[in-house]
Amino acid sequence: MIEPSKVKEAFNRIEAENYAFRAYLKNHANEDELDEQFLKLHNELFLNYDCSICRNCCKEYSASFKEDELGPVSAFLKMTEKDFIVKYIKEEFGDYQLNVKPCCFLKEDGGCEIETCKPNSCRDYPYTDKPERLFSLLSILDSTSICPVVFEMFERLKDEYRFKRRNRR
Ligand code: SF4
Ligand code: SF4
Repeated sequence: MIEPSKVKEAFNRIEAENYAFRAYLKNHANEDELDEQFLKLHNELFLNYDCSICRNCCKEYSASFKEDELGPVSAFLKMTEKDFIVKYIKEEFGDYQLNVKPCCFLKEDGGCEIETCKPNSCRDYPYTDKPERLFSLLSILDSTSICPVVFEMFERLKDEYRFKRRNRR
């Protein structure tokens, strides 16, 4: 597995190839079969992976809260919901997005300060165990530039589909 600090650089070297592979999947993959392949890789690769040594997602994306997730986290931080929103949130398209990046709840040891009440957007990332991946290939592709596990998933899928890799720099 590639080191978390090297994912971006590795992605930049094969960005065009990854876009081409995304287009290939879009045109050739079977929806259900692709879901099974992603799920299998997700379970296999995350099984023994310690996300606390990485946390690229916490550094690169903004956590996003649903309305009903604001109460629990505000209470956990001993704040009113209103104060939590003023201090930490910018509202975008009906979602409540954290207004800072990297995430202000990311601890130095890689832990999450609000672990017990972090939003589903954090729990579910990178969504590779969810159905209908064929329709989310763009966001998965974006994750290949951030998440070492998703980067590896894409590489293994290229092998499974016997996708011809381009000349790499
Ligand atoms: S989900 Fe991916 S990007 Fe996030 S911490 Fe785990 S390995 Fe890193
Ligand atoms: S809330 Fe926790 S899991 Fe979510 S981005 Fe912040 S540190 Fe990471």
